[in-house]
Amino acid sequence: MSVTTPAPLRTPPAPRPQAERESPGRHLDFNAITDEQFLLAANHMRLEQEIRLLMRTPYREFVVQIPVRMDDGRLELFHGFRVQHNGVRGPYKGGIRYHHEVDLGEVRALAALMTWKTALVDVPFGGAKGGVACDPTQMSRSELQGLTRGFTQKIDLGLGVYRDIPAPDAGTNAQTMAWIMDEYGKKHGYTPAIVTGKPVSLGGSLGREEATGRGVMIITREACQCLGIDIRKARVAIQGFGNVGSWTAKLIGQLGAKIVAVSDVHGGIFQPEGLNIDKVFEHFRATGSVCGLSGARAIDNAQLLTLDADVLIPAALGGAITRGNVDGIKAKLIVEAANSPVTPQADETLQARGVTVIPDILANAGGVTVSYFEWVQNLQQFRWGLQQVNEELERKMIHAWRAVHTRSMEEKTPLRLAAYVEALNKIAEATRQRF
Ligand code: NAD
Repeated sequence: MSVTTPAPLRTPPAPRPQAERESPGRHLDFNAITDEQFLLAANHMRLEQEIRLLMRTPYREFVVQIPVRMDDGRLELFHGFRVQHNGVRGPYKGGIRYHHEVDLGEVRALAALMTWKTALVDVPFGGAKGGVACDPTQMSRSELQGLTRGFTQKIDLGLGVYRDIPAPDAGTNAQTMAWIMDEYGKKHGYTPAIVTGKPVSLGGSLGREEATGRGVMIITREACQCLGIDIRKARVAIQGFGNVGSWTAKLIGQLGAKIVAVSDVHGGIFQPEGLNIDKVFEHFRATGSVCGLSGARAIDNAQLLTLDADVLIPAALGGAITRGNVDGIKAKLIVEAANSPVTPQADETLQARGVTVIPDILANAGGVTVSYFEWVQNLQQFRWGLQQVNEELERKMIHAWRAVHTRSMEEKTPLRLAAYVEALNKIAEATRQRF
């Protein structure tokens, strides 16, 4: 295992020109994208150079090898990352992603987003992210368990209830968290607060599983109201039917909206009069995909993004909407349920066309908000009821929405810039007081 410390503070090079970052067919540089969004806000706020340097430089990065004995007897070597981006407002907090394209740059970018997100919804955490380059869909349960336990051992010295608290992200779930908690407990004793998003039977919080989707629903509902879109008549398309996408579909559907299309990695389905989401869930449980639901038309993920819908919710992975496909987007409102689904170039085009984009750090902050409630419950060894969790989540999300929306109206800036300014102000203030 290697623990790399950031380079000494000096003026970092300016971000590379956008054209270089977003060449079609190349893997996007999420770190440069996140950094550019930060710099835009830092310039707008006239943030001091010293403070911005401290804020954009990760505190600590773990890059580890994880050997796993696979079911067929082979020894496979995986690479894992944990980036502790900023801890000025509290312990590092952020999910762990299992995906074959995970690399240090992407994890760095996601860790920075967590720092901004926790500040925006005002939970007392910093930001972190973890990831392992692997394809969880091709691994058995015992291989995934071996990988997770191996990763936990390798980053153990960076974890702690008041130091760094992982959670699920794409490709991981409550079971993954249970293995981390169990592995950590072998060395440190029973410590449920070491992870959030764990099963309720192990101290997880009621309402955590659906929290990110519930937060997306609350923000979409509030935004529609401000934009004069009647949510009960809105046509909504959702890319991704994992934890976030599926709960978002269910909860927005319950408001009366028509979910006209959903998709997963295999493709999508479209029904102009609205899908029956319970049937989609049933079909998904039976087949492992949304594809093939009888009565729905098959579409691909590219078609889903350009459907004639009022609201588009990318809820899969980053880089879904780029300069390559932005001109085809017809929705009036885009809600970033995934992290970094809209590139800065696409964002600019959408802005110029008057399309409202709700940024990831606001739209998907419901997950970390209920993770905070879970951590509090674990520390106090006191369980909250579901109603209390949902009410507190609603309160926090609405508060954050109003702060961002008001600032955006007052300063005549896009919601992303307003959200960054709201978040960065809190982190900058805490940073100044420490130095
Ligand atoms: P997940 O693994 O449960 O689901 C991901 C979904 O995306 C699956 O339906 C998968 O089939 C689909 N998908 C994967 N690659 C795709 C592709 N190339 N095209 C179309 N669909 C594809 O993950 P999740 O937890 O739902 O996370 C989704 C997004 O939300 C990620 O960007 C994640 O960082 C973000 N997020 C998650 C949480 C959380 O609490 N889980 C919180 C905040 C943000």
